[in-house]
Amino acid sequence: MQRCYWTDDVSLPAPPDATLPASVDVLIVGAGYTGLSAARETARAGRSTLVLDRGAVGSGCSGMNGGQVAYSFKPSFDTLVSRHGRELGERVAVEARHAVENLRRLATEEALDCDWQPRGTFVGAHTPKHFAALAREAESQPAPIAQRISVVSRADVHREVASDLYHGGYVLHDDASVHPAKLVNALYRRAVDAGAVVQDHCEVLGIARTREGFEVRTARGTVRARRVLVATNGYTGPALPWHRRRVIPIGSYQIATEDIGAERVRQVIPQLRNVGDTRRVIIYLRPSPDGRRILFGGRAALKESNAALVRPRLVQMMTEVFPSLAGVEATHAWVGFVAFTFDTMPHLGADNGLYYCLGYCGQGVPTATYFGMRIGQQMADLTEGRTALDGLAFPSRPLYYGNPWFLAPSIFAYRALDRLGL
Ligand SMILES: Cc1cc2nc3c(=O)[nH]c(=O)nc-3n(C[C@H](O)[C@H](O)[C@H](O)COP(=O)(O)OP(=O)(O)OC[C@H]3O[C@@H](n4cnc5c(N)ncnc54)[C@H](O)[C@@H]3O)c2cc1C
Repeated sequence: MQRCYWTDDVSLPAPPDATLPASVDVLIVGAGYTGLSAARETARAGRSTLVLDRGAVGSGCSGMNGGQVAYSFKPSFDTLVSRHGRELGERVAVEARHAVENLRRLATEEALDCDWQPRGTFVGAHTPKHFAALAREAESQPAPIAQRISVVSRADVHREVASDLYHGGYVLHDDASVHPAKLVNALYRRAVDAGAVVQDHCEVLGIARTREGFEVRTARGTVRARRVLVATNGYTGPALPWHRRRVIPIGSYQIATEDIGAERVRQVIPQLRNVGDTRRVIIYLRPSPDGRRILFGGRAALKESNAALVRPRLVQMMTEVFPSLAGVEATHAWVGFVAFTFDTMPHLGADNGLYYCLGYCGQGVPTATYFGMRIGQQMADLTEGRTALDGLAFPSRPLYYGNPWFLAPSIFAYRALDRLGL
C-alpha cells in the first residue's frame, strides 16, 4: 500500500471549497511547486488567479519527493554550450544555479518553514573510472557554475557512508535538503496570502481557445481565463495532448526505514548528507529531517509497479549498498511520477496565452519552485520573469503520444551497463 513518510505528520493543504469564478485573468492547472510558485507572482501583480488540482494540493510529486536540493540540469555545461553556443549555453547553465539560490533565499532570508538543511551531497563512484571522472570534474569546473566540491578518496569513503561499494567520490557542499510537504504548505500559504484562489479535487478536462482567451472545462463547470498555465509535470494527461507528447512520465519509488535511532543513522551516513552515486540507474538517500530514519529511493522496477510490490526490492537495493542495514524494515513505501523530456531539460514558454512550465527530469525541488516563479512573472508581464530557457524548442518524437513504451528496454540496458561498470 502507498504510504508516504512526509505526510504522516504534515498534512497537505486543504483549501476551503469555493464557488468557481466565471472568469479569471490566470488559471493554473496543477497545484505543485510550479503552479503555487506561479500563482503567488500573478496574484501579487494583481491578476485574479485560480489554481486547480485534480487531487489534493501537492499530491503530485511535490508533496512526496526526496527533498534533495542540488544543481539540477542533467546536460553537462559543455553539452549546453555545444547545443546553444557559448553565450546562451552559459546563461542556460547558470539558471540551475539561480534555482538553488532562490530556494536557499526563501528558506533562509524569508524563513520559509521547510526544514532546510544545508549539509551537502556525497556522490559515490561505483568504478575507478568513474572516480577518475569525478575527480577531473571537480578540478576543471566551468567558472560560471563552479560550486564548493571536495574529492573523497577511496580510503576516506567511510567518513561519508558505511559502504564498500564506492571507489571514492566527491562532496557537493552547496547542496541541501528540505521537507517536501512542508515546502508545499509554505508555497501554498504564500500564493493564498497574495490573493490566489486554490481548489483541490477539481480536474481540468479540456482547454478551448476563444477570442478573448480560453474556456477551461473542469469537473465543476467551465471557467473563462485570459491566460492558462500548464503545471502538470509527470501527471500531464489527455486534456493536454501537445504537452503530453513532450514529457515522459517515469515512476520514482521511495521507502522510509523504521525509526532506527540517530546513532545508527550516523553510522550509515556520518555527515548526515544526501547521498547518490554514479550508476545510470540512480539511487538516492538521505536521513529524515529528525535524523532517525533513512529515506531511500530509486528505480526499482523495469515496468511501472506499485509501492507495495517494489518495497522489498528497494530494501534489497539499500542493503546491497549498506549491508549494516540488513534486517531493517521499511515502514513506508510510495511512488510518484516525474517528467523527463527528450533533451533532458525543463521547458517553459507560451503559445499565444497558453503557458507551460514542466519537465524537471526528476529534480524539480529547486527548479520547479524557481521556474514556476519566473513563468508566473511572465504571465504578469513582468520583465524579471525572463529566463535563458525562454523560447528554446520543446522537442517530441514521432509516434510518441505520452506512453513511454521504450522505458523498460532502456532501464534494462542501463542496468547492464552499470553491472559492466561502464
Ligand atoms: C519519489 C520522488 C522523489 C523525488 N525526489 C526529488 C529530489 O530529491 N529532489 C528533486 O529536486 N526532485 C525530486 N523529485 C521530483 C520533484 O518532486 C518534481 O520535479 C516536482 O515536485 C515537480 O513539481 P510540479 O509542481 O511541476 O509537479 P507536481 O508536484 O507533480 O504537480 C503536478 C500536479 O498537476 C496535477 N494535475 C495533472 N493533471 C491535471 C488536470 N488535468 N487538472 C488538474 N490538475 C492536474 C496533479 O494532480 C499534480 O498535483 C522526486 C519525485 C518523486 C516522485
